[in-house]
Amino acid sequence: MGTAKDRGGFSAGLVALDPTLYGGFVRHPALDGDFDGPSSSRPPKPDETPRSLGYVGRIEVVCGSMFSGKTEELIRRVKRALYARQSVQAFKPRIDNRYDATRIVSHGATAIEAVPVATSESLMSRVLPGTVVVAIDEAQFFDRGIVEVANELADQGRRVILAGLDQDYLGRPFPPMPDLMAIAEDVTKVRAVCTVCGGTASRSQRIIQEGATVLVGGADSYEARCRACFRPRDMRPGEG
Ligand SMILES: [Zn+2]
Repeated sequence: MGTAKDRGGFSAGLVALDPTLYGGFVRHPALDGDFDGPSSSRPPKPDETPRSLGYVGRIEVVCGSMFSGKTEELIRRVKRALYARQSVQAFKPRIDNRYDATRIVSHGATAIEAVPVATSESLMSRVLPGTVVVAIDEAQFFDRGIVEVANELADQGRRVILAGLDQDYLGRPFPPMPDLMAIAEDVTKVRAVCTVCGGTASRSQRIIQEGATVLVGGADSYEARCRACFRPRDMRPGEG
């Protein structure tokens, strides 16, 4: 498929507003940061990497506190890629069994299919040659090898989207997110609403439930807090 311009002299921006023109998809690189291959490209076949067709990969990181909508944003980007008929594979760490074993589910309950993997090495071995978009949720739970894996996948011409917590419950940088943010082409910080004051929240406050002996990682154990309301220690509900 040629660009809009060499198909009839319209500006690409105008044509992009009406994708029904020319009876097919007209992709415009400026649209919402979506991933576009070279203008004359076809999708890669199952046995060839996007790089061999001229795709230039990139790394995107979506990060923030609990309840900030990171997973929601990851799912939104994946769905847009699927609408664009790009081949997508989604992964999540195997230890995260809070909602669903084989899907990425946000607190808002939208979901996509995802493969649970135990290590970054396992993730790498499961990426198919023709996959254009690799989505990874809860990236903070992966081993540090995920940094090299993300780099390698992007070098192969793929769009790598990682979502994860940027800080732990004490407000410290959550490895390996800082390294991923450093090598990413694009970093999006998403924000929650502070449960105490209603301000913009950037921290995950850990809450100890009365009588609980084991802290589970779900919504019950955390609150989103702003910098002023955050107490970097465990708390009981209503305290602080
Ligand atoms: Zn607050």
